[in-house]
Amino acid sequence: MNSYIEKFNTTITKTFFSKLPQNEQEFIREAAMKYKFSHQELIQIINISRDLGLWDEPRITEIFPDHPSRKVVFAKLKEKYESIRNTPNSYENFTLKNIPQEQKYTFKTKAKEGFGLGLCPVVSEKTRCCNLLTLDAVESCGFDCSYCSIQSFYNQNTITFDSTFKDKLLNLQLDPNKTYHIGTGQASDSLMFGNREGVLDALFEFAHKNPNVILEFKTKSDNIKYLLENDVPQNILCTWSLNTPTIIENEEHLTASLDKRIAAARKLADKGVKVGFHFHPIVEYVGYLDEYQSVYEKLILQFKPSEVALVSFGTLTFIKPVIKQLREREFRSKITQIPHEDASGKTSYPEATKIEMFKHAYESFAPWQNGEEKVFFYLCMEPHELWEKTFGYNYATNNDFEHAMLGAYCKKIGQDYLI
Ligand code: SF4
Repeated sequence: MNSYIEKFNTTITKTFFSKLPQNEQEFIREAAMKYKFSHQELIQIINISRDLGLWDEPRITEIFPDHPSRKVVFAKLKEKYESIRNTPNSYENFTLKNIPQEQKYTFKTKAKEGFGLGLCPVVSEKTRCCNLLTLDAVESCGFDCSYCSIQSFYNQNTITFDSTFKDKLLNLQLDPNKTYHIGTGQASDSLMFGNREGVLDALFEFAHKNPNVILEFKTKSDNIKYLLENDVPQNILCTWSLNTPTIIENEEHLTASLDKRIAAARKLADKGVKVGFHFHPIVEYVGYLDEYQSVYEKLILQFKPSEVALVSFGTLTFIKPVIKQLREREFRSKITQIPHEDASGKTSYPEATKIEMFKHAYESFAPWQNGEEKVFFYLCMEPHELWEKTFGYNYATNNDFEHAMLGAYCKKIGQDYLI
């Protein structure tokens, strides 16, 4: 067997080659035999082929350049791929594939080591961060959002509860003279499993015992039954991650629809619970600003600023394991079809795109930015300089940001802010 065939067969074993459609495998094998691509070139060509399928764009067989030189062919192919990747994508002719129709996971309860309370896993000095404390009440999530990094940390088919969670939580020693901000919506969805394993019972009791803790439930569900049936301590905030119908339908699988999420928030606000909204990730696609505009307007129409504690904005940031995990899956998503500029070691949109989306979002909520009951707005996980360019102000340090946030939340729920 000639050595290049051996090299080719060795290289492809460590790639997504076997996951490509048969015709693309044959096409790449033929092209490789003709041009004798290097190990690195082959890996990139296979990833290009995989991405074009994932994004439901013209396939490698349709865009492959015709030229006698290997170097020219590879350069032209990359150019074509990057122009497809960097052009704002459109969901107009996008067809979903193998999208889960129902939540398939098993529940597991075990006594876990340690206690999942710590600083937000993505807090950094490179970004302006609020120093949120995250509490892993439940491990892993039953929803299937294509951009979510949780999927690269946990086994998605198993939802794990800690049988010792309640004891650990109620024995937590906190400084009663300090205000804390703790969120349970990072390692899982805060409400989709309701009071399973008594998790909400424990969290409510904890909130009652620690009025100086602002406890934030973050969700994409409309499962608010427990909160409607029980007195909700005033130091509990319920916040929804919202997105446009286009992104919810194409990238946030198994989650509640936009209208169901907003309706759930409305019901809790009617009950006097302070709510909030996270637009994270805001995703760029053809016509996105108009579609986000109509979501922002829906909220301004349906809620009074006195009922809303916060609105946050953020966008896509990718780490390599998530991109790899998405390429491995047999489904379609356009979520990685972005320019992937460096963002503090991760990848994201270029600054100009971020300024466009965040400025538009912030300015759309102008009616909620003044007066006694104004809402607290923030950028999540974004570099310092972006605040000035979108909000027109910035916090000098993460601690200043945290103080401003907790001060605003305490004022909204009617309690003193303890520094
Ligand atoms: S700004 Fe966002 S990423 Fe940073 S600490 Fe707060 S929640 Fe975490």
